[in-house]
Amino acid sequence: MERQGNIRISSENMMPIIKKWLYSEKTIFLREIVANAADAITKRKKLVTMGEAEDAEYKIVVTTDEAAGTLSVEDNGVGMTEEEVEKYITQIAFSGAADFLEKYEKAGGDGIIGHFGLGFYSAYMVSDDIEIFTKSCMGDTKAVRWESDGESTYTIGDAEKETAGTKVVMHLAEEEKEFLSEGRIRELLAKYCSFMPYDIYLNPKGEDDKPVNTPAPLYIKQPKDCTDEEYRTFYRETFADYQEPLFWIHLNMDYPFRLKGILYFPKVKKQVELERGQVKLYCNQVYVADNIKEVIPEFLMLLNGVIDCPDIPLNVSRSFLQNDRQVQKIAGHIVKKVADKLIELFKNDRSRFETCWEDLATFVKFGCIKDDSFYQKVKEIIIYKNLSGEYRPLESFFGEEVSNEEAEKGTEPQAVYYVSDLDKQAQYVKMFKDAGLDAVVCDTYIDPHFISYIEYKNPKRVRFLRIDADVAGALKEEGEEDSAVKELFESVLKERKVSVKCEKLKDPTVPAIVNVSEFMRRMSEMNSFYRMDGMPEDLTLVVNTANANVLALKDAEDAARKMGVEYIYFLALMSYRPLTPEEHGEFSAAAGELLAKYLEKK
Ligand code: ADP
Ligand code: MG
Repeated sequence: MERQGNIRISSENMMPIIKKWLYSEKTIFLREIVANAADAITKRKKLVTMGEAEDAEYKIVVTTDEAAGTLSVEDNGVGMTEEEVEKYITQIAFSGAADFLEKYEKAGGDGIIGHFGLGFYSAYMVSDDIEIFTKSCMGDTKAVRWESDGESTYTIGDAEKETAGTKVVMHLAEEEKEFLSEGRIRELLAKYCSFMPYDIYLNPKGEDDKPVNTPAPLYIKQPKDCTDEEYRTFYRETFADYQEPLFWIHLNMDYPFRLKGILYFPKVKKQVELERGQVKLYCNQVYVADNIKEVIPEFLMLLNGVIDCPDIPLNVSRSFLQNDRQVQKIAGHIVKKVADKLIELFKNDRSRFETCWEDLATFVKFGCIKDDSFYQKVKEIIIYKNLSGEYRPLESFFGEEVSNEEAEKGTEPQAVYYVSDLDKQAQYVKMFKDAGLDAVVCDTYIDPHFISYIEYKNPKRVRFLRIDADVAGALKEEGEEDSAVKELFESVLKERKVSVKCEKLKDPTVPAIVNVSEFMRRMSEMNSFYRMDGMPEDLTLVVNTANANVLALKDAEDAARKMGVEYIYFLALMSYRPLTPEEHGEFSAAAGELLAKYLEKK
């Protein structure tokens, strides 16, 4: 007996919407149909525990049939009676899952994937026609066949089917024949179904078929039951990264929301690619998407990992996720766990923390800039190398937290010197070391932004100055400026864009050094970062009045004075930056003249 019926809820309007807008990716249909099969098995197992159905060896079988042009998914789950097919399949948006959950809540409806009652219809994105053969596992009911082209009518009637369960046969549309390829389906099953909780077989042939998925992925286990080796293997298999991860965090909580997963810190060194990582999001072991930034804060995108979150309403659109408080809490929790792990490593295994730091630094700094709550948690474990190459917490380089009273008195923030390039700033570094001063080595691409951020966060505590920004107090003697030397240098260098200042440095060997204003240099760097025109250099030549040659210039003859000043200027400039071709020419000329004078005398 067969009869005809109309699909309710004005499906003529719904279908195009479902087809075009519900799922951004067409291939998702396979996930939906296989997830329904998994749900059906979960439901049957629940009924078994309640003594309402017979147990079975559960599996899902996916078959491609080129000749027939069909792709089928078969399960031995609950199956459906005719009434159930009418109710759950025919009434779009009437979610059987929601209904089931409500009914069996007391028995615990955990692990059900479907929520929205629309997943099944996604198969019409690729099919001209779909048949369902199903038989309920409850009692002695007859098997049912349902068929529809997804437009507005369907056919329902009796079917031949011995065992309980459901088979969905998708007659693929002409332009969707790629889904008849076993290779293509294998690829999609790997993407969407790797961790689905029941064995999935693709075109099984006989005895030694292997499931295409891992029904019990490591992350669903208790952390105490997992070995390091298992974590590493899971990492290799899931991310096809043959580099060992640095370490990992196993998330496992039930309250106030359910969250399981493993986050791995990969080795990245100083790479700029912050979004190299892949955090795969699952919902009850069903793949949802990669790198959903509402759940995984952007700065954590560097990590590799899997997160399984049954509480996130995943079938709905992203914009909805953005405003979901639950999602925000989950994201907050993940950030906290990551911070805790870093702090634990810092406290318990400092040397390992230091070895990993190069890989972690960029991500930690980026995370601080992006997320104040993360900064507040990890600020004490941010480390930098000093001039001796030892790591020290950044905060140990500068002043204590200031009290409000002190702040009101207008205490100046402490000046902390830093080196951005040990080679280029070698001369300044040497002077610092000789004077027993220390500085922070800030030599990664994110450091200029990061130190500005630290200043902004600690305006009363610290102000960073590059080691060539001025002459640190401890490098010089107090005293009057030698105006004769100053005037001499100013007059010879008047054509050049440099101001002159005299200091009596403790190190008498250096005749002069170049300083560049921290503020102007930062502005200029920022401009070039945003690809704007560079700013003119703001250079100061600091002439060392403790240097014998400098003092001797005062009494020398005019020609020698001019030559000497220029020579000293170029030497100092070279210690600061490479000369321009023009400057180089002038310097060669000055050096040549000086040499000639010297040889003449001999
Ligand atoms: P959802 O899974 O969100 O409930 P679907 O459109 O995917 O929505 O499925 C609708 C309903 O159809 C399911 O809730 C379930 O009751 C029923 N159903 C779909 N596929 C199967 C299946 N393989 N076995 C048993 N019931 C199924
Ligand atoms: Mg579903």
